[in-house]
Amino acid sequence: MPPQALIPERAARQASPVSRVLVLMYHQVDAPRSAQEQRFCTSPADFAAQMQWLAGAGYRAVDLDAVVGHVKGCAMLPEKSFHISFDDGFVGVLEHALPTLAALRMPATLFALPRRTGLTNDWMHRRGAPRRALLSAPQLQLLADEGFTIGSHSCTHARLPELDADAARQEIVDSKSELEAMLGREVRHFAYPYGLFDERVREIVVQAGYASACSTRSGFNRPGEDPYLLRRIDIAGTDKQWQFRQKLQYGSNEAKRLQPLAYYAGRLRARLGPG
Ligand SMILES: [Zn+2]
Repeated sequence: MPPQALIPERAARQASPVSRVLVLMYHQVDAPRSAQEQRFCTSPADFAAQMQWLAGAGYRAVDLDAVVGHVKGCAMLPEKSFHISFDDGFVGVLEHALPTLAALRMPATLFALPRRTGLTNDWMHRRGAPRRALLSAPQLQLLADEGFTIGSHSCTHARLPELDADAARQEIVDSKSELEAMLGREVRHFAYPYGLFDERVREIVVQAGYASACSTRSGFNRPGEDPYLLRRIDIAGTDKQWQFRQKLQYGSNEAKRLQPLAYYAGRLRARLGPG
């Protein structure tokens, strides 16, 4: 590519507003009880430090409808917009995350399992994780009243692509109507359990009337992308503060000491094109 051909493309990129929106994915916010659990369990102190850092660094929390509007091209969000999501519906979100989020006025989404409300995380406990309480229906209602968006994470934390069509439809369609009956408000968003989906599962989510679905694919969400495959950054309980910041900066689940070098080398390669 001749050097002058680079110039208009680069100018266009610099002139256009940065339009990359992050969705953070958490599970538990609590004191971890085992090394295995720590992966999915952010301590209340770490969570508060992460949220305070975001607020101080000029990040702006937006709700999930705004993220969907952004990828659909309806409403462009400014740089450093982000959304916070919690999967599974652990009680620790109410006890430890809500006070921090309320103090900082940050909206968030919790993806709940309507047939496991008030029960425990059996699907994790079977694999050796400590048993943990899931939010009851009144506790979910309390979170919704405090401004949380409640989304569906299926009825029972099912591995959706492995189910037949009827069973998959039940998990996706019934979880929406059951949560709506429980909370008395519309449930507009879905998150795939285990991050597992295929074309058929995605189509059932669309047909069920959800406005979006969160995946576990990492990266920024840009206009023109599929609102039924929103990308999320996986925040682990083991993340140090520098790893958390790096995940946000590069929109990646990987945080490595040499990440900045690899990132800019990758961007340079993309700019120069093949060969
Ligand atoms: Zn889950």
